[in-house]
Amino acid sequence: MNSQSLYIYNSYTKSKELFEPINPPFVGMYVCGPTVYNDVHLGNVRTFLTFDIVFRLLTYLDYKVRYVRNITDVGHLVDDADHGEDKIAKKARLEQLEPMEIVQKYTIGFHDVMRLMNITPPSIEPSASGHIIEQIEMINNIMANGFAYEVNGSIYFDVVQFNEQYPYGKLSGRVLEDLLATTRELDGQEEKRNKADFALWKKADKGHIMKWNSPWGEGFPGWHLECSAMSTKYLGKVFDIHGGGMDLKFPHHESEIAQNIGACGHAPVNYWMHSNMLNFNGKKMSKSEGNSILPMEMVTGQHPLLDKGYSPMTLRFLFLQSHYSSEIDISIKSLHDAEKGFKKIMNALSYLSKITWKAGTINEASEADIVKHSNEIVSNLCDDFNTAKAIANLYSMASYINTWYHQNQEVSEISEEAFKSLQKIFRDIVIDVLGLKEESSSDNNALDAAMNLIIELRKQARAEKKWNVSDQIRDALKTAGIIIKDSKDGNSSYELES
Ligand code: AMP
Ligand code: ZN
Repeated sequence: MNSQSLYIYNSYTKSKELFEPINPPFVGMYVCGPTVYNDVHLGNVRTFLTFDIVFRLLTYLDYKVRYVRNITDVGHLVDDADHGEDKIAKKARLEQLEPMEIVQKYTIGFHDVMRLMNITPPSIEPSASGHIIEQIEMINNIMANGFAYEVNGSIYFDVVQFNEQYPYGKLSGRVLEDLLATTRELDGQEEKRNKADFALWKKADKGHIMKWNSPWGEGFPGWHLECSAMSTKYLGKVFDIHGGGMDLKFPHHESEIAQNIGACGHAPVNYWMHSNMLNFNGKKMSKSEGNSILPMEMVTGQHPLLDKGYSPMTLRFLFLQSHYSSEIDISIKSLHDAEKGFKKIMNALSYLSKITWKAGTINEASEADIVKHSNEIVSNLCDDFNTAKAIANLYSMASYINTWYHQNQEVSEISEEAFKSLQKIFRDIVIDVLGLKEESSSDNNALDAAMNLIIELRKQARAEKKWNVSDQIRDALKTAGIIIKDSKDGNSSYELES
């Protein structure tokens, strides 16, 4: 086990704490996954990248991580409240598909994007619709403990009752009295005892497609419940880390905490982590705001904001240049800078393996500086995953590496030991912890993943008879040396122009 101490900012206690897993070397981590009703945008990518770094660093520190990230495929209503249409069912209606076709389509798209961005898959990826029995069991436990009630086949969590015994609202800094006074009047309101109560189970109307049998009749689970049920099932009643984007603190995570305590009498998570938002023009990037950029638009440059295409690793580097707790506003300048910075680091990495160490006069200042950065880089990452500071260390190291490379590809100003450890730490951090990788046209994995996305986008455009979009994509690719081949069965493939 690595002896380095890790500190995590716990959004529940609002303080940076020493990380002490319940059962070392094992670590249980749960991250809220996507609702698979549309394409993931760059904002979603940022959040999943944050937890990829958490997973990678823990693994680097020799922890054995069970990483659970769910797929929300039911119960996430359009209004984020206890009413309205299921997001997936609505999309199925609009696209004239089965809800499970929507789920399949966007789950595949999500996985393609994760692969493109070199984001490690979780150990378990459970879906809400596959865990209806567990959710019903959890509702039974909450009801047995007196924190939920049934009205006309729907079950609501009784927030007021809960708050008499346990604090409600601590994670998100909400005060129940305020919630009771300000929560909007919504559908289902006439059924609830209090405005702040939330649905654990909703009775399905006649036209509702995604529904299951339950002790209370046909219905479907509330969005918050799946994460409580699935984290308990795979990680236990108390586990180490729970993550998600900042915007999930309320009501999603607040409700999760209440549900877990309501079911088993104690809080589920020791360290809550929240990643900050990706903004565009000062506003949170989101599909509903109409300001989202999709990863494939990023790669092709086919977006009004972009002057050209940017590679997945450029984007990864851009995100890592900020601490996960800061907001990022994406701009052409930041993309340009990230592109340059990424190249500098990857060049240094490749130079490192070509430089030979030679005995000579040691420059004490250089030796001390290299040792300092080699030590600091891990402690910066262990200081609440400070990738921004770690990248600053890499830049400092890269300056030395560049100089040595351009001076006969030799180094003698530092000791052999310092040079060997620099070679190892630089590689370990860049490749294993930050998850950056070399990109070139021979990098078939990244290219394939990007091309799958683009071909799918073009197929959608053709299905919608947007011939100009489809032709534009084909022509832009041709200019980039990539030929699209359309076959008679409606599928397309690509090849590189020789
Ligand atoms: P959703 O599919 O909307 O439930 O979102 C999936 C994940 O992406 C959640 O953890 C959200 O918090 C996160 N997310 C959504 N929009 C953004 C954004 N603009 N910046 C960063 N994370 C986001
Ligand atoms: Zn969740």
